[in-house]
Amino acid sequence: MPIYEYRCESCESHFEVLQRVGEDKKDLRCPQCGHERVEKQFSAFATSSGGSGTRVARRGSSGCGSGGFS
Ligand SMILES: [Zn+2]
Repeated sequence: MPIYEYRCESCESHFEVLQRVGEDKKDLRCPQCGHERVEKQFSAFATSSGGSGTRVARRGSSGCGSGGFS
């Protein structure tokens, strides 16, 4: 499950929210000052367990399979 990072536009504090993909929390507030204007950042991702596997599929990658040309 991805962790979204938010930034408060009022006090500029950063905080993270565990959220489902594609789900927006409309009533999200800054835990510091309670301000409603928070801005979603897409930097943080749940990568605490550094194992192999689940990698985020990126958009725009050409589906040429495992390219062997370098
Ligand atoms: Zn704040």
